Amino acid sequence: MNNIVAIVGRPNVGKSTFFNRLIQRREAIVDAVSGVTRDRNYGKSEWNGKEFSVIDTGGYIKGSEDVFEAEIRRQVELAIDEADVILFIVDVEEGITPMDDEVAKLLRKVTKPVMLVVNKVDNAMRVKDAVEFYSLGLGEYFTIAGMNGSGTGELLDALVEVL
Ligand code: GDP
Ligand code: MG
Repeated sequence: MNNIVAIVGRPNVGKSTFFNRLIQRREAIVDAVSGVTRDRNYGKSEWNGKEFSVIDTGGYIKGSEDVFEAEIRRQVELAIDEADVILFIVDVEEGITPMDDEVAKLLRKVTKPVMLVVNKVDNAMRVKDAVEFYSLGLGEYFTIAGMNGSGTGELLDALVEVL
């Protein structure tokens, strides 16, 4: 498969909300690889006439960060292997957490395109709050509100450019 976009990030940042906005239909919920947690949703999407597949990760990860750190790390490593572009979602409401730092550390080593997406930017105040995410060392970021779609057009314009 070509043009695979993986959505990664710690629990509760809004990955699935954004995924559901992107996809037109659900392809598979169950991962066929035995021994792999059935924890990934696959969908198809299209923007500016360009089709791509989207993987939402971490579906069943719930609860505190420390308990699930290993699982999130595994999901990120899978995404790095599998995807052509990685969308790393963070949450401006919570700010940078230790888990975000961990994920950023993994992603800084990746040669594939990584796009940093600051979610829950619901108002102008939060645009300013998003500045702290520069310190993740991943460069420029996009600000979106996955819940109402604000900012997602600009993100998708840029995404299909690197696909
Ligand atoms: P995931 O665990 O990363 O997949 O996150 P979910 O998509 O399940 O969302 C976690 C919570 O964040 C839910 O309560 C969502 O409604 C909320 N959420 C998602 N996007 C936004 C947003 O743009 N703004 C705000 N304020 N909340 C959001
Ligand atoms: Mg989810």
